[in-house]
Amino acid sequence: MYTDNLINKIESYLPKTEVNKILDALNFAKIAHEGQKRKSGHDYIVHPVEVASHLARLELDPKVIISGLLHDVVEDTKFNSEQIKEKFGEEVSKIVQSLTKLNADENNLTKNLDQKNMRRFLVSMAQDIRVIIIKLADRLHNVETLEYLDIEKRKKIAKETLSIHAPLAKKIGMNDLKWRLEDESFKHLMPDKFKMTKRLISQKRGEREVTTQEMISQIKTQLEIFKLEAEVTGRPKNLYSVYTKLQRYKQLGRNFSDIEDLIAIRVVVNTKEDCYLVLGIIHDLWRPMAGSFDDYIASPKENYYQSLHTVVMNDSNQKIEFQIRTKKMHNFAEQGVASHWKYKDSIDESSTENFGKDTYWLKDMIDFEQEGIEDSEYIESVNNDILSDKVIVYSPKNEIFTLPIGSTALDYAYSLHTDLGHYCQASFINGVWKPLNTKLNNGDTVQIQKSEEEKGPNLDWLNESLGFIRTANAKNKVKAWFKKRERTENIERGEKQILRTIGLSNVENSEILLPTMIENDTYENFAYKVGTGEINNQKIIDILNKEQLEETVRKMNLTKDPLEENYNSIASIVIMGGENIDKKIANCCGPVYGDEIVGYKNSTNEIVVHRIMCSRLRNLEHTNRFMPAAWGHSKDLTPTTVSIEAYDRMGLIRDITDVVWGEKTNIHSINSQEDDKNGTCKIQLTVYTRDLGQIIRLLGKMESTPGVYKVRRVK
Ligand code: MN
Repeated sequence: MYTDNLINKIESYLPKTEVNKILDALNFAKIAHEGQKRKSGHDYIVHPVEVASHLARLELDPKVIISGLLHDVVEDTKFNSEQIKEKFGEEVSKIVQSLTKLNADENNLTKNLDQKNMRRFLVSMAQDIRVIIIKLADRLHNVETLEYLDIEKRKKIAKETLSIHAPLAKKIGMNDLKWRLEDESFKHLMPDKFKMTKRLISQKRGEREVTTQEMISQIKTQLEIFKLEAEVTGRPKNLYSVYTKLQRYKQLGRNFSDIEDLIAIRVVVNTKEDCYLVLGIIHDLWRPMAGSFDDYIASPKENYYQSLHTVVMNDSNQKIEFQIRTKKMHNFAEQGVASHWKYKDSIDESSTENFGKDTYWLKDMIDFEQEGIEDSEYIESVNNDILSDKVIVYSPKNEIFTLPIGSTALDYAYSLHTDLGHYCQASFINGVWKPLNTKLNNGDTVQIQKSEEEKGPNLDWLNESLGFIRTANAKNKVKAWFKKRERTENIERGEKQILRTIGLSNVENSEILLPTMIENDTYENFAYKVGTGEINNQKIIDILNKEQLEETVRKMNLTKDPLEENYNSIASIVIMGGENIDKKIANCCGPVYGDEIVGYKNSTNEIVVHRIMCSRLRNLEHTNRFMPAAWGHSKDLTPTTVSIEAYDRMGLIRDITDVVWGEKTNIHSINSQEDDKNGTCKIQLTVYTRDLGQIIRLLGKMESTPGVYKVRRVK
């Protein structure tokens, strides 16, 4: 019977009175959906029952299970929310109402991935986290039954699930649900890759099955000796995460055999103290790998995940990962926020203590909404700022703040308060003065110094290559500030910025040429858009580039586009110890200009150039065939001379050369002259550059180096 799973499960953890309430709701739903069918041909009622089973599997509160059973009633049947309120109470009726509204939005969403609907979808989910949990269970059953839909709709839903629902599940710590959503979607979105990954994993598992089982029994013996109660299991990874990891490895030039943690062994014990005892036992049995031990019990992850992780080398020289945690930590790791709605007959204080902290981001989701921003900006904020990985930093008063990875001191200022961002003058990280674009690390203490009066943001803050801002929230606030200024003020600022960019580029006659190069807009409008940050530096550079390009083509009397020449060109590679040998780029790792490289002479005496990271190199046997290799100065690289004026300070030259290294390019010469009277210095620097975009990026970064007050390109 299709209701068996649900009924068995609820009877296993709920008292009779609660079970009866759920059975009431089940009957109500049966009557309501009577005669309705799903695309699969099954009776409609099967769907809400399956959704409720997913929720019961998590042993959630009866109200959540009932809402799951009734989630489609108001939308699809003759019953309304008044009747639900009468029969099942106000709370259930409210949840069902939110779900109904969401369904309507979501249907539109699937028809047309409209940003307005998406925004409403996210905002209404943020009002009550139980609505998210039920929505995710609903989505899970929908992706489990995707095979009944036509292929186009199937792919659309799978894609949407991977980009919205799975990250949301991760965000609220419901990892078990996240894996299921991902694997079901993966199967339909990329069937070939799904099969390939599955095959690879089972192959690999086969190889390791025996050793894993042996290790598990060895630990069990030890645990018995120490009289420790524990559950030990080999934990398989979900397919989609293995696939994404494979993609990452491919980019790094490594391959599948490098993935070490395909199988992890998990030990679940009763107390925190037991976790550390088990760790000791494991490290005593096998050698721990240096640098791969993480204590997430003492310092939990941003979503409060707790566990000990360690990697050991077993007797057959295989690396095996262990995860050690208590039952409570385990529940939280698999179910996250949902564990707060677990059914309990008495109130358990400890399980609600972290709840406010876990869900602070729901408040952010609603706060972002109230700032009157565009739909696209709202969605970008949610994706960028809420659904991404985080760093944890502290205020001087030791309050904890979480920000997306890569956030800067300036992002931090804006996240505390809009005005603090606008007034932001300097930042001190761990007590030391640092530029506002310094990236924050876990555990940093950050202090922001305000200016006396509102100076307002700087256009540079929106220049991505200077890296002042990572969060969409801060970016939107900066843009909003500029938009509120007078039009004339913005035009003036824009013109200044255009002239500055032109000045850096030193392209002949560009002041005159640029206004004529703007398409579909007046120069004044263009300047206004630059002044509000709507048009960024890159766009100005693009326009100049086009002009410069045409100029070059004219001068050289070429018909070919010189910028299209490949910088990776094999000709620019220097093989040390052999000129005039045939060279080619390795297909496996495809090195590009700036990568560290090495040559390997193959059997036909041709030199194949690999990245030094390439995993293929380890399998090459004839070590005498390796030849040192390096990138020479390609013909495509042109020397550019830059003159810099700055206040002389310790570390100035180092900071400037760091900027050059950061662009993966080389310095040809550098020379500096101090003026002791004024405490200033002049630096002349010649660097190899690829194109105008790179020159302007370099000069812009040099300009924002502390102490530097003038930078220009020398002809
Ligand atoms: Mn549904």
